[in-house]
Amino acid sequence: MLRRMSAPPIYLDNLATTQVDPRVLEAMLPYFTRHFGNSASATHAFGWTAKEAVEQARAQVAALIGAVPQEILFTSGATEADNLALKGVAEFHRDRGTHLITCAVEHKAVLDCCRRLESRGFQVTLLPVDRWGQIDLEQLGAAITGKTTLISLMAANNEIGTIQPLREIGALARERGVLWHCDAAQAVGKIPLEVGALGVDLLSISGHKLYGPKGVGALYVRRRPRVRLLAQLDGGGQERGLRAGTLNVPGIVGLGMACELARQELEVEALRLGALRQQLWEGIAGSLSGVELNGHPTARLPGNLHLSFAGVDGAQLLLALPDLAVSSGSACTSGSAEPSHVLKAIGQQAPASLRFGLGRFNTEAEIETAAVRVVAEVSRLRGRAGDHPALHHEPALTGSKN
Ligand SMILES: *Cc1c(COP(=O)(O)O)cnc(C)c1O
Repeated sequence: MLRRMSAPPIYLDNLATTQVDPRVLEAMLPYFTRHFGNSASATHAFGWTAKEAVEQARAQVAALIGAVPQEILFTSGATEADNLALKGVAEFHRDRGTHLITCAVEHKAVLDCCRRLESRGFQVTLLPVDRWGQIDLEQLGAAITGKTTLISLMAANNEIGTIQPLREIGALARERGVLWHCDAAQAVGKIPLEVGALGVDLLSISGHKLYGPKGVGALYVRRRPRVRLLAQLDGGGQERGLRAGTLNVPGIVGLGMACELARQELEVEALRLGALRQQLWEGIAGSLSGVELNGHPTARLPGNLHLSFAGVDGAQLLLALPDLAVSSGSACTSGSAEPSHVLKAIGQQAPASLRFGLGRFNTEAEIETAAVRVVAEVSRLRGRAGDHPALHHEPALTGSKN
C-alpha cells in the first residue's frame, strides 16, 4: 500500500504482532554477545550459562499459565507448536483412532494441519460457530466418537477476538477421554489462563503476540496424566527428543521475560485496554450509523475491536486511512479481496471491516485520533457514494472484564 505521509502511522495492529518491549530486548541482548553459548554444550561455562537462561525462561513461561517448567517445549512460534500438537498427537495415537475435531474460525496453522492430516488418512470434523464466533458445546459433544483422539479449539480468535467457552470445553474433553489442544497465541498474557483449571492438555504460545520477539514460541504438554506425541523434527534430541534443533537462546530469554512481564501486568493492562477499546467504540459508533461490532460483546480479548461498516468499500477505506496501521480482517488473508474465513463463518458479509488491535504502547490520544479519522473517512466515502441505507446502532459494548 502506498505510504503518503511522512510520520509513521498509529500502530493499531497488535493482534498481528507487537513491538518488542524494551525490557524484553534488554534481557535478550547479552545472549547475542557475551553469553553466546549453545545451551546443549555441557562441557564448559558458555553452555552452562545459556542452559541456565533457557531454564529460567522455561520457568517464566510455565508460571504465566500455571504449568511446571518440564511441561514447556520451546518452538519457533505458535505455528510450529500447532503443527507439533496436532500432527504429533494424531500420529502417536493413530492406532487408537483417526478422528479429530476443530472449528471453522481457527487460525490457518491449525486448519492447514488438519487438511494435511486428512490427506494422510485422518478424518476431521469442522464445527461451525454462532454469530459471535463461539462453538456450540452440544455439537462438540455430539461430534466426539470412539475414534476421536484430539480436539483443537483456540482460546481467543485472532480476528474478532472472541473467547471460546474454555472451561466447558476442557470439562467435556476430560469427561469423554479426548485430548484438547488449545491455540492460545492471542490469549496468553492477555487474559488469565491456568492450564489446570482449564483442563487443557496442549497449549500453543507465540512470543511476538505478547511483546516478545518473532520466531520463538512454546508448546505446553501436560505431564500428569502424560500426553504422548510424536516428534515432527528429527535431529539432536533437544527438548526431550520432541523438538530437535539448537535452541534460540536469545529468543527464548525474550519469551521468558515477555511472560514474566505479562504475568505482573496482565490484570491492570487488561482494564486499561478495555477502557481504550470502549473509548474507540464510543468515538466511532457514537458518531456513525451503520457500524456493527463483530465477535462476542463480552467474551472477547480486551484489546480487540472488530467493526464492519455499511455503505463503504473496504479497500477504499483502508486507502483513506494511511495514518492508521489497522488490519482488514486478518493479516494472514489481507491482500486477497476475499472476506476472511472467520467473517464468512460468522455470516458477516459487510463490504468493509476493520480490526483494531490495541496494545501496551497505545495511548488515549492515539485512540482519540483514530476514532476521529475513522469517522471522518467513513463519512466522506459515504457522502461520495451517495445515500446509504438507514442503519441501526448496535448495543454498546458492555463491561470489559474478560
Ligand atoms: C499469530 C498466531 C499464530 C501463529 O503464530 P506464529 O508465532 O506467528 O507462528 C497461530 N495462531 C494464532 C491464533 C495466532 O494469532
